[in-house]
Amino acid sequence: MPGPGAAQLLEVWGNGLGQDPVRRALVLLSAAVPDTEPDVLADWPLGRRDSELLAFRASLFGPGLEAIAQCPGCGMEVELAFTVGELAGTPQDRHAAPLTVHLDGYEATLRPVTSRDLLAMDPGNTEAALTARCITTVTEAGAPVEPGTLPPDVLATLGEELGRADPAAATELNVQCPGCGHGWLAPFHIASYLWNELHHWARRLLIDVHTLARAYGWSEQDILALPPLRRQAYLELVGS
Ligand SMILES: [Zn+2]
Repeated sequence: MPGPGAAQLLEVWGNGLGQDPVRRALVLLSAAVPDTEPDVLADWPLGRRDSELLAFRASLFGPGLEAIAQCPGCGMEVELAFTVGELAGTPQDRHAAPLTVHLDGYEATLRPVTSRDLLAMDPGNTEAALTARCITTVTEAGAPVEPGTLPPDVLATLGEELGRADPAAATELNVQCPGCGHGWLAPFHIASYLWNELHHWARRLLIDVHTLARAYGWSEQDILALPPLRRQAYLELVGS
């Protein structure tokens, strides 16, 4: 496995356990981009975060992804198979840029949403609060306006526009139901996908460590330091 070894990856998993999804994604991102300070990563647009996590996932577990989506037409569970390359989008997509929107006499400049923005939200906060936070300037007939005081419908439209500022943050899969033929766009979240995958990997690894430690009396550190294929070979010997 290139990149982090088993012991390091297990530590990443331990750091993400018990965290909320936004912090967990940052834990994964720190592992993917170890030479960048976590505080800096928190200010990355979500699309940049997700692009990096996609590449990290490919380096850890390969480019092939599988998921299940429920057809909104007939309720059938559709199995999806796709690759990191199909989701990666264009290079321009990965460079989120501020966006200027003219709407109902207002001129607003929006910047892409970051992890820090999501962390700043309280559970009671609405989508509008997040949008207001990402408005860098807004004027009406040239006079500055406080973003939080914008009419709800203006904030709602600006919130929709926010997605355009960072297309790589909203990955969608084009799905067609083999049962009824219905087509739709299913959202795909690499951060939660990769976390689930890492979680299952870690659980399996701990069982292997347990098995080998009990059979040979080796320490966790020794077992994790074994190349994966040799670890597997010992497991087969223990099982036989
Ligand atoms: Zn269907």
